[in-house]
Amino acid sequence: MTEKKPNAALVIGGGVAGMQAALDIANQGFKVYLVERTPSIGGRMAQIDKTFPTLDCSACILTPKLSEVSHHPHIELLTYSEVGSVTGVAGDFHVRIRRKARYVREDLCSGCGDCAAECPVEVPNEFDMNIGFRKAIYVGFPQATPNVFTVDKENCIDCGRCVKVCERKAIDMDMKDKTINIHVGAIIVATGFELFDVSQYPRLGYGHYQNVIHAMEFERLINAAGPTHGHLVRLSDGKKPKSIGFIQCVGARDVQKGVPYCSRVCCMYSIKNAVMALEHDPKSDVWVYYADIRAFGKGFEEFYEMAKRRFGVKFIRGRVAEVMEGKNTGNLVIKVEDTESTKVRLIEHDLIVISPGVIPSQGMDTMATKMGIEQTDDGYIKIDHSFFGPTVTKTPGVFVCGCADGPKDIPDSVSAGSAAAMKATIVLSKGES
Ligand SMILES: Cc1cc2nc3c(=O)[nH]c(=O)nc-3n(C[C@H](O)[C@H](O)[C@H](O)COP(=O)(O)OP(=O)(O)OC[C@H]3O[C@@H](n4cnc5c(N)ncnc54)[C@H](O)[C@@H]3O)c2cc1C
Repeated sequence: MTEKKPNAALVIGGGVAGMQAALDIANQGFKVYLVERTPSIGGRMAQIDKTFPTLDCSACILTPKLSEVSHHPHIELLTYSEVGSVTGVAGDFHVRIRRKARYVREDLCSGCGDCAAECPVEVPNEFDMNIGFRKAIYVGFPQATPNVFTVDKENCIDCGRCVKVCERKAIDMDMKDKTINIHVGAIIVATGFELFDVSQYPRLGYGHYQNVIHAMEFERLINAAGPTHGHLVRLSDGKKPKSIGFIQCVGARDVQKGVPYCSRVCCMYSIKNAVMALEHDPKSDVWVYYADIRAFGKGFEEFYEMAKRRFGVKFIRGRVAEVMEGKNTGNLVIKVEDTESTKVRLIEHDLIVISPGVIPSQGMDTMATKMGIEQTDDGYIKIDHSFFGPTVTKTPGVFVCGCADGPKDIPDSVSAGSAAAMKATIVLSKGES
């Protein structure tokens, strides 16, 4: 007897790569389940301020995509959800998905925010890298998709104020986690990346000195929708920094820390942020401490040149040995060997921004084991063939895109999303077995 094969695909991870893959599959008429573990799709691109090398506003490019995904008739968004188990073979996978309780009904919540206005609890907002605050009932960011609130049960004090104020009766504190089963022909893993924990370099002062921050914190600080409404200030005293140092290759190209590979995006995002610092205050003094500049993409070298010549960003080649805090000022002194002049230099800054390398997303090992997919020694998903199968895993019917198989910038993540979608639809198009 012939069994009808499923006309659907599963995409795991709702960052820019997974969204692109989902749209490309759905636009060919196949059903897509898009599973995202946080309450909203968007991934890291939703957090960054401007994008290199064009300095486009990240939210302005991303928001129409978020809307396209959420309104697509063939895409079923399963946010705040994770894959429980996967069985079967290419063309015929059975997947169990755990839908975590939001305690707010998606079909009823209008995203009005009356509940959050009433909530008395404030906790650090992870979307703002814990610099700003959110309520215990929250949406992570203004363009969150779906625009539905979530109760953070760990911090909720069960005062009931949000329940009372919600006119649509959308809040249900008795909601339970649910498990759903889906049947799909192909799976795309688009689980993205995490940032390397830069406190593993105590000599650089992150976690000890308030005015040493990392790049994603900087992105939130300069963002108009961020915790300081886009005002670039020091966390210790709220003063505008007049001199900023960016430190490259922290948690990247370091065998001793288990990250021997280059993270590919840090040179460019730091050059971008150095330029942004000067756009905020053209009189400030901005330095980048680098091992070597990897400006390999289209328009990247030109952007680097522009940062130097038009904006006056200063570049010093050398690994930073140490960051020391000055007495009573909150200022920081960098000790570095300038490998071009071979001199050891001490340079004072008001603010230091560390560029963390990129590592596989949290839970990647567990997920790979569940799905029987091979990983590289670095923990990313192993691809079948780097020339002819850059989105094909060693497991038939399972594909990968974006940073799930290694660090990538946005254009490369999007291209990989489209390529993985094409591979997945080839499996789906085979139809009946
Ligand atoms: C500080 C910084 C600045 C940057 N600036 C730029 C820039 O200006 N220009 C540029 O081109 N690139 C930039 N990048 C790189 C850019 O962020 C990435 O290219 C892009 O985010 C990759 O998209 P992705 O979808 O692969 O991963 P992500 O954006 O990480 O999205 C992955 C998604 O998968 C979800 N997920 C993870 N695990 C699971 C799971 N098990 N189940 C379900 N969902 C899961 C995550 O919650 C997330 O939503 C920057 C990176 C950093 C760190």
